[in-house]
Amino acid sequence: MNAAAPQTPRESRNDRAPRILVVEDEAALAYLLVYNLEAEGYQVEHVDHGDEAELRIAESPPDLIILDWMLPGVSGLEICRRLRARENCRDIPVIMLTARGEESERVRGLSVGADDYVVKPFSTPELMARVRALLRRARPERVASKLLLGDIDLDRDTRRVRRGGREIHLGPTEFRLLEYFMEKPGRVFTRAQLLDNIWGMSAEIDERTVDVHVGRLRKALIRGREKDPIRTVRGSGYSLDETFGRE
Ligand code: CA
Repeated sequence: MNAAAPQTPRESRNDRAPRILVVEDEAALAYLLVYNLEAEGYQVEHVDHGDEAELRIAESPPDLIILDWMLPGVSGLEICRRLRARENCRDIPVIMLTARGEESERVRGLSVGADDYVVKPFSTPELMARVRALLRRARPERVASKLLLGDIDLDRDTRRVRRGGREIHLGPTEFRLLEYFMEKPGRVFTRAQLLDNIWGMSAEIDERTVDVHVGRLRKALIRGREKDPIRTVRGSGYSLDETFGRE
């Protein structure tokens, strides 16, 4: 199942969504990864066994691999080492997942060619940011650095936001909120979903925090009689108005 983005900002419209292979044997963690990656619009496949991972990669090399270190069958380390030795897989970005306490092993992970590693338990937004960064590096055309909707434009690389040409200054949370909304205009997000994706799954924050930050974002974006790009959906949450800037 792929999360369909009905209105993709025009600069990120591209041939197909990047394919990500998740290799993880902890079912709950795998579920969380697949759920979040699909919500970001990626095509996601999941396998829970090292041997199966090798088969899938050989059949159809993905655009990025999230690879658990400790797996039944062939280990993540070995998978990575073999990948790097193969001509057609050498350049696939790999994010290695390691458990705490395996820190000394990280060096080995990087030495066999992982591009990045994340220590469990990790923050989902941080992992998503790393996925985006690696994909952008590997396939710059696949992840747009600029998002545009109506008279608002956001540049992920320079972290700048402008509305109608004027500079908008946002705190890091407001920036991430706007970026998240702009990735999926029109889609309604519950406060819980926003908390999960902006603050991370481990965040124990009151849902009203979301209202506070959306309020700040609005205040920063709107001057005078400018239109409010954010819709409050009663009983549900928030959404970026996909018709914004069209009339
Ligand atoms: Ca494992």
